[in-house]
Amino acid sequence: MRPRRGLDSSSVWAQRVRQLEQRLRTKEERIVVLETENAVLHLKLAETFPYILETVMNFSTSPVFFSLYQGLAGRCTSEVLQLYAAHGQQMKFQRSSAVTQLHVAIKRLKQDLKSLHSFALELSKDFQRQSKTCLYQVLAAVQGIQLQNEAMQMFQIKAFDLEQSLQEVTERYEKEKQKRKALHNSLIELRGNIRVHCRIRPLLPFDDAAGHSQDRQRSFSEKVAYAADDETILVKCSRPGHASVNKTFQFERVYNDLESQDAIFADVAPLLTSLLDGYNVCIMAYGQTGSGKTYTMLGPQLEGNLAFTTEEESELGIIPRATQEVFRLLSEKPPGSYWVEVSVVEVYNNEIFDLLAKDSCGKVFGIKRDVVTTREGKSDVPLLTHETVENASEFLHLVNKGLHLRVTHPTLVHAHSSRSHLVVTLNITTVVFGDNFGILWEDEQTSQRINKEASFTFTQKMRDNISTSSSRASSPVQLEATEKMKQVKTRLQLVDLAGSECVGMSGVTGAALRETSFINRSLSALADVLGAIAEQRAHIPYRNSKLTHLLQDSVGGDAKLLVMLCISPGQKYLTESMQSLGFGTRARQVQRGQVKKKNFPVPSKGK
Ligand code: ADP
Ligand code: MG
Repeated sequence: MRPRRGLDSSSVWAQRVRQLEQRLRTKEERIVVLETENAVLHLKLAETFPYILETVMNFSTSPVFFSLYQGLAGRCTSEVLQLYAAHGQQMKFQRSSAVTQLHVAIKRLKQDLKSLHSFALELSKDFQRQSKTCLYQVLAAVQGIQLQNEAMQMFQIKAFDLEQSLQEVTERYEKEKQKRKALHNSLIELRGNIRVHCRIRPLLPFDDAAGHSQDRQRSFSEKVAYAADDETILVKCSRPGHASVNKTFQFERVYNDLESQDAIFADVAPLLTSLLDGYNVCIMAYGQTGSGKTYTMLGPQLEGNLAFTTEEESELGIIPRATQEVFRLLSEKPPGSYWVEVSVVEVYNNEIFDLLAKDSCGKVFGIKRDVVTTREGKSDVPLLTHETVENASEFLHLVNKGLHLRVTHPTLVHAHSSRSHLVVTLNITTVVFGDNFGILWEDEQTSQRINKEASFTFTQKMRDNISTSSSRASSPVQLEATEKMKQVKTRLQLVDLAGSECVGMSGVTGAALRETSFINRSLSALADVLGAIAEQRAHIPYRNSKLTHLLQDSVGGDAKLLVMLCISPGQKYLTESMQSLGFGTRARQVQRGQVKKKNFPVPSKGK
C-alpha cells in the first residue's frame, strides 16, 4: 500500500516500521536461542570426547577386546565424527535458514525503508513546495504591509495637513465670529436699541360683533388694517358720520395676517445672539385684548387655560422658541460655563406676584413681591424665586406651572388674563476667563460695561448662592474659583402685556375699573419711560410703575428692546389699533433720537 500524504499516512508507516522492528527482534531472539543450544551441545561433546578417547585407550590395552574395541572405537569414532559432521551441518542449515529469514526480513525492511524514504522525499518536496507558497504569501503580505505603511504615512501627512488647515480655519472662524459679533451688534445698534415690529392678525370669527344689525356687523368685521409692505402698515377706513382715515405707519418690520410664527421668530432670533454677547434683551407684545399678544408670545391657548397647549411645534410662540434658541446658543459654550435661572411674575393691579414661589409644603402659590433699586442702580426683586433650568423643556414645564397659577390662584382671579402683565425672565450667567475677556468685545464702551458688570469673583457668587432661595445641583458652585474668572450676567425678559384698550372707562365700576385704571397707568408709565429715554433726560421715571421698574434693566441703557405691536384688523377695533400704532410710532422715535447721538463701534482693524 502506498502511504498516503499527510499525517494519516505517516502514522500508518510508522506503525508498519514498528511491526517490522518487532518481527526483527523476534527473529534475533530466536537466533540467540538456537546459538545457545548449539553452544550447549558443543560443550557436552567437548566433555564427552576425552572420556571416550580414554575408554578407547583402555580398551585398546586389553588384548581381548583390543581388536573388538578397536573396531568398535573406530566405528564409534567414525559415527561420532559423522554425528559431529551432521550436527555441524544441521547447525549450518539452521543458521542459514535463520539468515535467510533475516535476509527476507531485512529485504522487506529495506523495501519499507525505501518506500519510507521516497515518502519522506515526497513529503520534503511537498514541504518545500508549500513553504515556497507560504514564502510567496509572506513576501506578498510584507509588500502589502509596506504599501499600507506608505499609505498610512501619506494619510498621516494628509491628516497633519488637514489638522493644520482645520486649526487655521478654526482660528479664522474665531476671528470671523468676533467680527460677526461686532458687526451684528453694530447693526443692532444702528437699527436702534428699541425696535418696533407690527403684526396684524387675521380676521377671526369672533370679530363679528353680536347684537348689531347685519349691515353694522358687516362693516364692523370689515378689514381696515393692511400690511402695505414689509415695513408699512396702512389703516384705511371711511365710516358714515366719521372722518375717513387713511394713514400709514412705518416700523422696522410689518407682518401681514398670513405670516407664520416661524417668520416672526426669524426676526427675533438675532436679538438672542446679542443676549449672549452681553446685552440685556426685552421682547414685549403690546396691543389691545384679542389682538394676538399671547398667541405671538406663547402660541395658541385653550379657553381659560394660559399654559402651553399646543403640540404643534410650528405654532409655538416667541417665549418657547426664544428659550430653545438661547439653549442652542449656550450649548456652543463649554459645559458648566453658564447657567440659566428663570423667574415668572405677573404684574396685576401694580402688584408683583411671584408665580414660582412655593409654600412650606412645596405647593406653588402666587406670593406678592416688591421691586427695589440696588446700590448699583439696578432693579431687583428681593426673595423672587429663581429656578435653575438646564434645557428648554425644563423651562417650559416651569413656565407652564406658573401660567396655570396665573389662571387658578384665588388672589389673582381676574376676568381675563389680558388684565395682567406676564413677565418671564431668564437670567443667564456666563463664566468668562479674565485673559480672553477683553477681546470678546470689539468696542471699548461695551468692554468696559461688561467688565464693570462682571466684577464679581467666583467666591462672591458662591456666597450669593448660599443666600439665594433656590438653586439646584447644576448651579456652578462646583467650578473652581479663580481670580481670572469673571461672570457676565445678562437678562432676557419676555413680556405679554395687559390689553391696551381704554374702552368703557366711564361706565366701568368696581374691580374692572380698578384693573383698567392700573393697566392704563402702567402702560402710560411705559410710554413715559420710552419718552424720557428718547429725550435723554437725566431722570427716567422707571419707578412710576412696578412694570417699568421691573423692566428697567432690559429697557434702558444699551439693552435691546423689541416691541411687537399686535393689531386686530377689523374696523371694530379701529380706535384701539390707532392707539397701539401711535404707541409704536412714539417708541420708534426713541431709537431715532438715540441713533443720532450714539457713536457706533467700528470693528477694529484686522478683525
Ligand atoms: P391677546 O393675548 O392679545 O388678548 P390672543 O393671543 O389671546 O390675544 O388672541 C386672541 C385669539 O386670536 C386667540 O384665539 C388666538 O388664537 C387668535 N389669534 C391671534 N393671533 C392669531 C394669528 N396670527 N393667527 C391665528 N389666530 C390668531
Ligand atoms: Mg393675552
